[in-house]
Amino acid sequence: MYRIPFSRVNWITSSFLIGTALIALIGVPIYIIKQGFDWFQFAMFFVFLCATMMSITVGYHRLFSHIAFKAKMPVRLFTLIFGAWAFENSCLDWASDHRRHHKHVDHDDDPYDISKGFFWAHIGWLLFKLNPVPPMDNVNDLRKDKLVMWQHRWVHLIGLSGLIIPAIMSFCWNSYMGKDAWQGALGGFLIAGVLRVVVAQHCTFFINSLCHTVGRQPYSTKHSARDSAIMAFLTFGEGYHNYHHEFQHDYRNGVKPWQWDPSKWTIWTLSKFGLADSLRRVPDGKILLAEMREARRRAQLRLEEIHSSGPSVCQLASASVHEVIEKLSSNYHELEKAVADRVQLSREKMNDWQTETRQLIRELGRIRPVSTTP
Ligand SMILES: [Zn+2]
Ligand SMILES: [Zn+2]
Repeated sequence: MYRIPFSRVNWITSSFLIGTALIALIGVPIYIIKQGFDWFQFAMFFVFLCATMMSITVGYHRLFSHIAFKAKMPVRLFTLIFGAWAFENSCLDWASDHRRHHKHVDHDDDPYDISKGFFWAHIGWLLFKLNPVPPMDNVNDLRKDKLVMWQHRWVHLIGLSGLIIPAIMSFCWNSYMGKDAWQGALGGFLIAGVLRVVVAQHCTFFINSLCHTVGRQPYSTKHSARDSAIMAFLTFGEGYHNYHHEFQHDYRNGVKPWQWDPSKWTIWTLSKFGLADSLRRVPDGKILLAEMREARRRAQLRLEEIHSSGPSVCQLASASVHEVIEKLSSNYHELEKAVADRVQLSREKMNDWQTETRQLIRELGRIRPVSTTP
């Protein structure tokens, strides 16, 4: 029988995570039933939730953990302050955990290793400290950043301001509207403070749990990370996690122009205003090569599946898969050579290859072994 390792419970973190979740689930509904819906409190909730989540995705994740672009001081300061409002530890700690996650993904040294189960990857790793704390020797570059170190020192105090400021704002709003100011302060604290923290935290935790469980793997199956448009919506663009694990230094996670990634759009917009530069992009050819490699691997697997069905299955299926593999391989080698020779490929040519790869993957799904014996 499974036993909870009480001796390894991280009591402070656990109390905070469980306490805030209970307030959000019980305290907030009771407050709304008693005091009614106040659009000002929910407008604050929405604005501060966006600021908090974007500071985690754009700041903590893509800027500080992956150095996917460079940002000017106002951007760094904003994301460090609002990142602290998520109560997900300091940027230095977060980046250290996250870099280990990428380096050891799906293995024991991955702090939120999905192979230990969904609960562990989502929140268990925060509630329990089963292993000794590893040395933070993978963030020495960030230690040289004075703003990062300032935030590391004061992170809890900055985080607390994320609960107090909404309460003060709501207090002032209710006073101005001639309503009960203290009830307003309580509502601001509960809705734009605690509820916002809980929603932001679980949306971030989804990246470690659901984004390693639900979705497609168009770029690689060497790791458990997956691409999902629904998860991208819930995580401000981080749901294209299969791409991200394959090309972690790209400032985009949703690399296709139509993919929902508000974080990439924000970084791009910041660059147009001179607030960000050195945006790192993986060349289109390399991305397509990864897609073709994965498609070819799937085709090989399909062929093995058909062969293992026994000699009585129709040879037609096997021949069709062979044909798909041949087309994929020929395109792959042509593109591989072009990338190696640094040949400038036209957009049309790239689009053709892309479309053909997708068609071949669909074709592969339609091929069914049919028994020739009655
Ligand atoms: Zn991951
Ligand atoms: Zn990452």
